[in-house]
Amino acid sequence: SDNLEKLDGYLARFRETGIKNRIAGEDRGGAKGVFQSISPVDRSAICDVAHGAADDIDAAARAASEAFPAWRDMPALERKKILIDVAEAIEARAEEIALCECWDTGQTLRFMSKAALRGAENFRFFAEKVVQARDGQHLRSPTLMNVTTRVPIGPVGVITPWNTPFMLSTWKIAPALAAGCTVVHKPAEDSPLSARLLVEIAEEAGLPKGVLNTVNGFGPDAGKALCEHPLIKAIAFVGESRTGSMIVKQGADTHKRNHLELGGKNPVIVFEDADLDRALDAVIFMIYSINGERCTSSSRLLVQDTIREEFEAKLVERVNNIKVGHPLDPATEIGPLVTEDHYNKVTSYFDIAREDGATVAAGGVKAGDEGYFVRPTLFTNANNDMRIAREEIFGPVLTSIPFSTEEEALKIANDTQYGLTGYVWTNDLTRALRFTDRLEAGMIWVNSENVRHLPTPFGGVKASGIGRDGGDWSFEFYMEQKNIGFAT
Ligand code: NAD
Repeated sequence: SDNLEKLDGYLARFRETGIKNRIAGEDRGGAKGVFQSISPVDRSAICDVAHGAADDIDAAARAASEAFPAWRDMPALERKKILIDVAEAIEARAEEIALCECWDTGQTLRFMSKAALRGAENFRFFAEKVVQARDGQHLRSPTLMNVTTRVPIGPVGVITPWNTPFMLSTWKIAPALAAGCTVVHKPAEDSPLSARLLVEIAEEAGLPKGVLNTVNGFGPDAGKALCEHPLIKAIAFVGESRTGSMIVKQGADTHKRNHLELGGKNPVIVFEDADLDRALDAVIFMIYSINGERCTSSSRLLVQDTIREEFEAKLVERVNNIKVGHPLDPATEIGPLVTEDHYNKVTSYFDIAREDGATVAAGGVKAGDEGYFVRPTLFTNANNDMRIAREEIFGPVLTSIPFSTEEEALKIANDTQYGLTGYVWTNDLTRALRFTDRLEAGMIWVNSENVRHLPTPFGGVKASGIGRDGGDWSFEFYMEQKNIGFAT
């Protein structure tokens, strides 16, 4: 109740003024009026949100374009200082960000309080890299001294989803700003609150007007217009695989550079020789944390048949003990799903699983009457041809599939359109090397859950995406290589 009171205080200003677009440091209504942000906790309206469209995107792209030369040419140390100030300002308002994010998305406080701080860390990490962003090489030929340098690509568009909106937005916006780009951000229509906080915090911390602009709205209007805008040089996109295809098509005529971070149906493979207690903890964590609304979640459990019965029995016990509840209660492990549509999608798989012949070993039911709550769910007796094994459900729903040999495990693991992450549990080092070499995924962890290390490359293969960010890979995306050959 303490958290609810605090939240009420934080939301008062949104209720009063709604969420406006932020363009060139000014608040601006949306070309299409307003839409409402709804809380998944009790289906109540949070506030009005500016419904932006092509006109707003045009104004924001012009603002980003006007702000670009000064931001690009600002001495690196000055830019670094502003970005560190943004990181500190985020830390100072981390509680407000986390509470608003939980109310807007249904994510739980236990995870969103960390996600808000991760946002600050993203700014701090890329701030430290500002001074190296333009570094290049000298490549000597017999007749030329080649100087290769990097320059920021220009104003860029950032389009983000609703699952951990603040953390994900900062993961894109911080490196773009560090590289010297200006940004037009189109946050997900289902989670506008923290994007508004971010632009406000950044401006208050000293980010010049027009360097970061936020336009709210939906994919087919604001999102599409951003991809099509000629002043926008690149689109950093996080969202569904089919939307990723649209992003590429929409940007084709203006030759956009695209970075796509898309969906996943990631396998966690547990061999009989693994440390089964640790594997169990990791399996639970990687699908039932963050409401299972997580691109890197391990939604397919591939378990060796010799240990399957014991492992699944322990899983059922653990899953049935997971606490579903109010997202602001620090004890809650799973909150409500983000929207009614998404809730209907996730719960539809309960029947699909039964129809396909799988067993609902845990969960498989809705929870509570008010918001979009579901019990964490485990399907067993499944095979990889079932829809529950092929489609990204994006909720706290795990499908367990048995295998007998390493060969078979690899075949099942790779038999998917996706390739974002993989998790391998074995104490056989040679097998781990052999298996990870052939597993089709951009990121693999051995005997570990997903632990992010910001200098490492993040991204997927196949329908899970194109491109990487993290460390210097982010600068590769937000900057152009430029080679100058001097005759010698
Ligand atoms: P989504 O694709 O529906 O929407 C994402 C964003 O794209 C939203 O801002 C939306 O308004 C916008 N959009 C929709 N249509 C558009 C269009 N035609 N042009 C431009 N923009 C458009 O995704 P979602 O449902 O919000 O998010 C969940 C998805 O995101 C899941 O598939 C999940 O796996 C994926 N995801 C991937 C990663 C990753 O790093 N790979 C991280 C988080 C989430």
